[in-house]
Amino acid sequence: MNLSFSKELARFNNFDFQSFLGNVNRKDIERVLLKESLSELDFLSLLSSSALDYLEPLAQRANNCTLSNFGRVILLYTPLYISNYCVNDCEYCGFHSRNVASRKKLTTQEVRQQVEILEDMGHKRLLLEFGEESQRACRQFLI
Ligand code: SF4
Repeated sequence: MNLSFSKELARFNNFDFQSFLGNVNRKDIERVLLKESLSELDFLSLLSSSALDYLEPLAQRANNCTLSNFGRVILLYTPLYISNYCVNDCEYCGFHSRNVASRKKLTTQEVRQQVEILEDMGHKRLLLEFGEESQRACRQFLI
């Protein structure tokens, strides 16, 4: 699988978020709530101030989606730490840039080995953990 968030993000480089969000009205929110499948712009509409009066129907819709996709289960994920380089400074996080801890980014080979070990242990769902650092980031990650 080839993931590239930056490519997806680049699609919105010239998008006027302020203008879009400012133009969303109540009818737009009601239309989105009735849709079977939501587009990216539909989701964005739900972040507008016009959606504030629809928090309860939004919560019910989200709950229905969760139940239909996952049922009444609790899914546990095994974290796989890929890189702890980060330029940010979130107080609660050990990856923050002021932390003097040693830094490491796994190679593709190391990631593959770690995944195989976790698979052999019976883990089926992995949560890939990265810091945010463009110079060493895993922008395109093959697994
Ligand atoms: S890894 Fe995430 S949470 Fe941690 S400092 Fe970087 S941006 Fe913040």
